Amino acid sequence: MTKNAPRFLARYALETVPRYTSYPPATAFHEGIGLADWSVWMQQQPAGSELSLYIHIPFCKSMCWYCGCHTTIPNRHDRIARYLDALDTDIKRRAALTPADSRVSHIHFGGGSPDMLRPAEFARIMTRLRAHFTVGTGAEIAVELDPRGVTPDLCAALAEHGVTRASLGVQDLSSEVQLLINRIQPRGLVEAAADMLRAAGIRAINMDMMYGLPAQTETRVIATATALAEMGADRVSVFGYAHVPWFKKHQRAIPETRLPGASARFDQMLAAAATLGQAGYDAIGFDHFACPDDPLAVAARDGTLRRNFQGYTTDASDLLVGLGASAISETPQGYVQTIADPVRYAEAVESGEDMLTRGVARSPEDYATATRLADLLCRFETELTASDRVDALEPVIVDGLARIEAGRLIVTARGKPYVRNIAARLDPAFQLAENRHSTAV
Ligand code: SF4
Repeated sequence: MTKNAPRFLARYALETVPRYTSYPPATAFHEGIGLADWSVWMQQQPAGSELSLYIHIPFCKSMCWYCGCHTTIPNRHDRIARYLDALDTDIKRRAALTPADSRVSHIHFGGGSPDMLRPAEFARIMTRLRAHFTVGTGAEIAVELDPRGVTPDLCAALAEHGVTRASLGVQDLSSEVQLLINRIQPRGLVEAAADMLRAAGIRAINMDMMYGLPAQTETRVIATATALAEMGADRVSVFGYAHVPWFKKHQRAIPETRLPGASARFDQMLAAAATLGQAGYDAIGFDHFACPDDPLAVAARDGTLRRNFQGYTTDASDLLVGLGASAISETPQGYVQTIADPVRYAEAVESGEDMLTRGVARSPEDYATATRLADLLCRFETELTASDRVDALEPVIVDGLARIEAGRLIVTARGKPYVRNIAARLDPAFQLAENRHSTAV
């Protein structure tokens, strides 16, 4: 190991810190921010703004025990039909609030599992979106998919309605790990899903994998990362499992005795990064990898990489309209979140109530902090300002994780896995707190 190689440092790896996919982080959201705030914020945006849309599909066929998403398991398809009726209304209402002549450049379907939609249902949402928003030619339309739900008919509908990128959740390919997380999907099934998407014309394929799952070992992580490269994933995200059974009750089904310890998690994370690096992927930020010709790698090289709720992105828009239960919307002035429960969401939309019930306003100072934290997470450096507490940064400097040079804070090679810890020390609102966020590694 070289002198500057990252190494396990318990004091940072075990710290619970925000993922900084938003600033202020979602833990700062509170009730009392709603549609009225959103309307005011949207009126402050210039005509001709670029927009991103996020559509949440909160349904899955079965529960994966590691899941940290807002999802439900519907017993009948009727529930999805009712949700889609509400989504129709939500789309119309929210589109009416957008600035004149705005144009959509990115659409992201997440969940849940958007593959729970029947082909005609996906077509209905896209038709509705195109009727109420101006979707730019060349817009990126991305869909998260559970490989077990991918069918040729669904792929054909996705392609027909302009989907350009699909993300397949893989996590780990060993059968023992899959059994323990209640997600059985052998490599052949994942490969078949990727082949169906490509055959339909959706050629940009992301794959997600995880470390820190029960019974996961470095060998299994390396095997999974190798397989994803062999399957030709254009991008790979490597996420650490966040075990929070007091918050996500189904995680109690995960045998805690089989969970790797903090140091083993760190080694698994490094093993995934090394395997993907050897396979030719560029490391993007602290948890994404992309083929050198993928737009994400290009954005990382030319300095335009951004961060949003999906992680690292090429999406340059400051305006995100979140549609559907639990979806978060963003403007420079603040965030709002839709009611998380799909039934309550549908009831609120049907009765004309405010379906945006939580959020946080951002001051210009918050927005400046958000920009600097994004710099740090995307480019591993940012300028320091007079209000930064240099004493808070001292430990990470003494430990060789960062250095200060010409008024800039620069993360070292050793510090890259701990960039969230370093960001937390620049965050004026952050206080170390038990269980409010995930561990740094
Ligand atoms: S498919 Fe995804 S959203 Fe659905 S339960 Fe599994 S991890 Fe959660």
